[in-house]
Formats: sequence, structure tokens, C-alpha cells
Amino acid sequence: MSGGGQNGSIRHLPLPITWLAPELVELELPEERASSCASCPMAGAPFDPAVRCCTYHPSLPGYLVGRALRRADTGSERVLARLEDPDGRTGWGVRAPRAWQREYRRDREVAFGRRVSWRCPYWVEGPLSCSIWRDRNAVCRTWHCKHDDGLPGHRLWVVVRGLMHAVEDTLARLCEARLGAPDPDAPVEVWAGYYLACAELVDRLEAEDLLALEDPEILSLRARVREVHGALHGEVPDVVAPQVAEVREHPDGVELVGYSPWNPVVLPRSVFVLLAELDGERPWREALERAVAADPSVQAGWVELLWRHGVVRRKSDPDATWGFEGDDLDPDTLDRVLSSG
Ligand code: SF4
Ligand code: SF4
Repeated sequence: MSGGGQNGSIRHLPLPITWLAPELVELELPEERASSCASCPMAGAPFDPAVRCCTYHPSLPGYLVGRALRRADTGSERVLARLEDPDGRTGWGVRAPRAWQREYRRDREVAFGRRVSWRCPYWVEGPLSCSIWRDRNAVCRTWHCKHDDGLPGHRLWVVVRGLMHAVEDTLARLCEARLGAPDPDAPVEVWAGYYLACAELVDRLEAEDLLALEDPEILSLRARVREVHGALHGEVPDVVAPQVAEVREHPDGVELVGYSPWNPVVLPRSVFVLLAELDGERPWREALERAVAADPSVQAGWVELLWRHGVVRRKSDPDATWGFEGDDLDPDTLDRVLSSG
């Protein structure tokens, strides 16, 4: 979904979003080279190449729908086709149909990346697989299957997503309040006209309009983004303990799953000697010395690798695992990830 690293994640954002959330352009966000959509490492296994990670129906704020419509390209055709179904067509924007949302919440743990019938209505063939790539929403911009910085990177994108989503939502509500939504049964052309007007309204916003829109939630999310970004390249804490979610066999040793089933770390089997010493009591440097003494094949760099992949964490670290932070930003997941250090 992300496509193309940092520039891809923020490129073509409407200017008012970056005025309300300047961190999106001021901070150096990770490029996420491992999430290389043009040569998707997940296509084939574990994801179906016919859908990859786009087993998803994004909620598009009205002004993004309008921006996609006025491009007069494949994306606008896809959006117009989506507008034919009134389910999910609202003054806020275009959300997933209710039946789709119910099925997604029920089956996403097993069907994400696999169920072809869930393919996004805006999907097209090609490297980025997205007909509305320039106008995609916060989730599609910030979702990465792998994170070059591991768990700290995942945490950063979750808070960036929260900030971007809050701003998107604020602008979508402003458009609805100023323009008034069409009648639910109005023809598609009327809805398309409404969304085009939303896009124009956002284009015309001035700095004074935006100052009035700054609210405590956005300010607090901006501060949180700066804080989590500052911790991106932090050192391994002195004392860590294993939090292994899954162990899989691998030709080169073992594959250990920490924070995400899709970003495991592969290490020789002697990693278990090290994990046994990382007991959450003694400092990791001492644990490493003991492990190397017991098995000289243990490497010093493994501690950092294990830390970045969430295979070892502070004992007090809550269960910050990969989650389905979708359009509605599941509050439980968000709180859990935001509160983890
Ligand atoms: S799974 Fe999605 S985000 Fe990851 S590389 Fe493939 S297309 Fe990109
Ligand atoms: S909008 Fe684009 S990136 Fe997002 S799910 Fe659809 S096809 Fe994928």
C-alpha cells in the first residue's frame, strides 16, 4: 500500500494537511526499503499476488474522492464506479460498505492479503497496484508490511497514521459542514459534483481557516509523533527479556516472530543460547558475554536485531504487536501501541 518509501508516503498530500501537521514534511520519515511494492516481497507467500496487501476498502474523505475524480484517469473511472453503490457514500466521504466492514472485522486475521474477493475497488495491475495512489488515505500511505527500523518504525508509522487520519477527518468534516451533503438517493453525478466541490474547498483554504481547525487532539498527536520519531534510533535498553510470538523452521536456522508475523528475523539456532541468558534481570551486555562463553558462534549484533524485531523487549513493554489499525483506528490497538515505550 505504502509504495516508494518516505517520498511515496507523503508525496501529493494536499497542502492543508501538511500545514496542520508540519511534522509530516519536517521530520525525516523512514524510507522503508524492505516494503518495496514495485517488487513486493510478500507476493506469493504469504500474500496472494492478485491482491497483495490491498485486501482492503479504504475510507476516502470527500476531498480526496474529488481530487481523484478530477484527474480524469483510470482512478477517476474506478471512483465513479464505486459511487454507483450508495452503501458507504456519505457527506464525510466514501467508506466501505457495511457488509464488507463486518466481514473484514470478522476474518481479517486469516484473510488479510489472501482473500481476492476483498480486493480494493481502486486496485489496478502494475507496480503500485493503485489507481488513486496520489489521493490514497492515511492508512494506505502509512501501512508498510516490513519496517527497516523494526518495532520502533512500526510505532512511528502508527502515530503518523493517527495524526494524518485526524487531519483528514477534520478537513472532511469541514467540507460537509460548509457544503452540506446531497440527498442520499441523489444521482451519482450529484455526489460526484459534491466531492469535486470538497476538493476545491480544501484547495482554497487559507492559513486563517486552518488556525481555527487546530484542536487539542491534533496538537497532542503532533507532539507524540515528534516524541516517537526521536526514539526511532534509540539504543537497546540495558535489560531486556524475550517476547517470542512464534518460532518457525528455516533453512538458515530459525525464524523468530516478535512484533509482526510479516517481519520476522532469521538467525542460527544458537540464538537460543543468547535468548536463555536474556532473562529480564541481568543487563544484556553481561547476558551476551555469558552466551558467547557458552557458544562462540553467538554474535554481538544479534541483540540489536532481536530488539528491533520485538523478539526481546523491556519487561514492562506491553504487547505492542502488529495490528489492523484500519480506517477507524481501532482505539484499543492505538492506545496499546502509543503507550508502549
Ligand atoms: S505487501 Fe504491500 S506494502 Fe508490502 S511490499 Fe507488497 S505491496 Fe508494498
Ligand atoms: S487505495 Fe490503493 S493502496 Fe489503498 S488499498 Fe486501494 S489499491 Fe491499495
